[in-house]
Amino acid sequence: MKRPMIVGITGGIGSGKSYVCQLLKAQGIPVYSCDTEAKRLMVDNADIVAQLRELLGEEAYVGDGTLSLNKPLIANYLFASPDHAARINAIVHPHVRHDMEAWAARQQCDIVLVESAILVEAGLLDAVDFVIMVDAPQELRLERVMQRDAAHSNQVLARMRRQMQAGELRQYADFVILNDGEADLQAQIADCRAAIQKKKESINQYPSSLC
Ligand code: ADP
Repeated sequence: MKRPMIVGITGGIGSGKSYVCQLLKAQGIPVYSCDTEAKRLMVDNADIVAQLRELLGEEAYVGDGTLSLNKPLIANYLFASPDHAARINAIVHPHVRHDMEAWAARQQCDIVLVESAILVEAGLLDAVDFVIMVDAPQELRLERVMQRDAAHSNQVLARMRRQMQAGELRQYADFVILNDGEADLQAQIADCRAAIQKKKESINQYPSSLC
């Protein structure tokens, strides 16, 4: 069965990935948020639950009937060593990928969007057919996230430092959208859709129904 063309959308925190996704969603393109779905799978997926309990102990989850993640415990574990994030990612990411691919196959559309800040690190590059990077100057990203999350600049800067830097991320992008509050976003989105369409036609294996 033909599956839709899968377009990954990535970029550093505060670049405006979710903002751009909302604009594309308003044009009828289905969006899968890896971050949101990973959080869901971390409580819903029996294999993830079992593996996280094995790694972190029974106290990885709280609650009897409805499980919830023990967020402080996970946060402490993550901050203790960079290697810890890799261990959790190795448990969660394969399931996110599998869930995303199953979701994509269910969409009645020729193109779908997959949003992930860590598209490259999560090993999703080879699961997508086209990569959009959303970029913005670091100062503006910092300002946006401080406002969005009511966070202190040091917290945001620390999160930024843990992510792949924009220069490195750009080399994986088929199209870069500059979301600096000045460049015309709708015009760039139109150009980006044209580039996606061109690639789609060059591959010629996706359904033809338009969203
Ligand atoms: P990301 O998903 O990359 O972390 P968001 O899309 O959440 O970033 O954007 C960060 C904040 O900046 C959000 O509150 C969003 O609404 C705002 N924002 C991003 N781009 C724009 C824009 N072009 N115009 C107005 N607000 C924006």
